[in-house]
Amino acid sequence: MAALPEPISALISALAKLPGIGPRSAERMALHLVQTESAAVQQLAETILNARARVRLCETCGGLTENSPCPTCSDPRRDASLICVVERAVDIFSIEKAGTFHGKYHVLDGKLSPINGVEAEDLRIAQLEERLAREPIHEVIIALGTDVEGDATSYYLAKRLARDRVRITRIAHGLPASTGLEYADELTLSRALEGRREFT
Ligand SMILES: [Zn+2]
Repeated sequence: MAALPEPISALISALAKLPGIGPRSAERMALHLVQTESAAVQQLAETILNARARVRLCETCGGLTENSPCPTCSDPRRDASLICVVERAVDIFSIEKAGTFHGKYHVLDGKLSPINGVEAEDLRIAQLEERLAREPIHEVIIALGTDVEGDATSYYLAKRLARDRVRITRIAHGLPASTGLEYADELTLSRALEGRREFT
């Protein structure tokens, strides 16, 4: 059997590094791309480069944005006394889709995971403390997943962020177990936010 031409193998290995793309899908995509019209492939490559060049992280909340600070951080109509802490930048879009939250956000950029070597200093917790000192925040809503690491991170945050004038709450456990926010539908997310409770 003839081996695959080297450029195709190289493309397969590059695609297989993307999240959620297994070796079979990578192979299918690569074989499709090398047989697609050149102009269409060029356009795809340009779209990827363009998105990468224009999207950055908001220096305040850590969300994905074209301009920093992002539109959410700079919107005066949003409630600056409420801040919702999420694991990943993409979680902001899930909550925004639900449409019931009108405060601001803070992306942790992960969760505590001793097994994977993720410690508190690896997360954007110090930045959150700076915001607590600088912004008129009265409530921190912790909206992390309900897996073991999400739980541990939530409790750690509740302790570390405790301040006199700040309420620390956690979204209700209406979220699917062991998953992140992206699997929750909009109604579930809205209810989870409304049903948030103070840490005891
Ligand atoms: Zn922002």
